[in-house]
Amino acid sequence: MDHFLYRDGQLWAEDVRIADIAAAVGTPFYVYSSATLLRHYGLFDEALAGLPHSVCFAMKSLSNLAVLKLLGDAGAGMDVVSAGEYLRARAAGVPGERIVFSGVGKTRAEMRVALSGGIRQFNVESEPEMEALSAVAAEMGQVAPITIRVNPDVDARTHAKIATGKSENKFGIPIARAREVYARAAALPGLRVVGIDVHIGSQLTELAPFEAAYTKLAELTALLRADGHRIERLDLGGGLGIPYARSNEAPPLPLEYGDLIRRTVGHLGCEIEIEPGRLISGNAGLMVAQVIYLKSGEGRDFLILDAAMNDLIRPAMYDAHHDIIPVIEPEAGVEQRPYDIVGPVCESGDTFARARAMPPVAAGDLVAFRSAGAYGAVMASEYNSRPLIPEVLVKGDQFAVIRARPTYDEMLARDTVPVWL
Ligand SMILES: *Cc1c(COP(=O)(O)O)cnc(C)c1O
Repeated sequence: MDHFLYRDGQLWAEDVRIADIAAAVGTPFYVYSSATLLRHYGLFDEALAGLPHSVCFAMKSLSNLAVLKLLGDAGAGMDVVSAGEYLRARAAGVPGERIVFSGVGKTRAEMRVALSGGIRQFNVESEPEMEALSAVAAEMGQVAPITIRVNPDVDARTHAKIATGKSENKFGIPIARAREVYARAAALPGLRVVGIDVHIGSQLTELAPFEAAYTKLAELTALLRADGHRIERLDLGGGLGIPYARSNEAPPLPLEYGDLIRRTVGHLGCEIEIEPGRLISGNAGLMVAQVIYLKSGEGRDFLILDAAMNDLIRPAMYDAHHDIIPVIEPEAGVEQRPYDIVGPVCESGDTFARARAMPPVAAGDLVAFRSAGAYGAVMASEYNSRPLIPEVLVKGDQFAVIRARPTYDEMLARDTVPVWL
């Protein structure tokens, strides 16, 4: 459920008209609903009620400071994958003891940033990383709390670019080697083992892969405890999928996911950490664009928008589907027509949808991409020298620009021409 609904013939974000935001900030732009973000965070919190738990928002999905503050103030922790994300979380007021640090290539400099600012745990992904972290922590007179990310060799049955839990993926250590690697970790002076971590992929639309992974994790917990390790926390990763096409998708709900967690690892007496990103932020955001031209091609009509692949790369990168709807509510029963919906970038990959059935649309009309809150703004670039598009946050009848569109001068000022040219 989200808070982007038609009312009085047009699309609203909570109690703000999308058309009013467009008039104020210009298109294209991203808009997020605070009520939806908080609702989705709350669903996970409720799903784990009764278990000691923490919900760490995977902020790589949407990392604007205002969004982090909103979720952090509601009690969320953060899952970060770089020093930049760590510093964003801290700047948004999230304390270090609520931040977990994931990622396969943490540098020593990044480890220092997190250790000096305070961190709940590092999710370590390899033996060389273990050695480096131990050395850095010891140098700083600290002991770094860690889990080790195990790769359970489970097929997440999602898009190949976002599956992470098979043995051929670069993530984690093979679960079969876990006992040996935990023994090494325990012997390193700068590390304190606190638990186990797993994350098998993103946009999972069924529970079975989670069940397979968490069952293996429960078995491993028993083995590692028998070896004398203190396994107090299980970090179960993120990955629960969302319905991108409203009409025909119904991924599992957080409540069902919570039941699965209870069933597979609830008896172990561990604190449960989860790292949802997409399910919290995905349906909490729209990208709004304007139709520049309608162009008739051979056997097809192109809808050329002022938004492009540099603003929302998911269709080009993952063949992702986004529902695209007019901001003015179409009349009931109006006949739909197929359009190829494209941006202005000089690549054929800059295509958002092919032969998409839409109500008739004219140049100047506004359209909204649904489910654009996750992996949207954060993956945007200025390819084709198109300035990053603004982000707007709505709360009730208020809205604010939470990242402004740079001016062309600002964009140009980032480059430096050497004096010797
Ligand atoms: C990307 C990622 C997540 C979040 O995945 P979603 O599909 O957005 O829920 C969580 N944990 C780790 C380690 C990740 O890399």
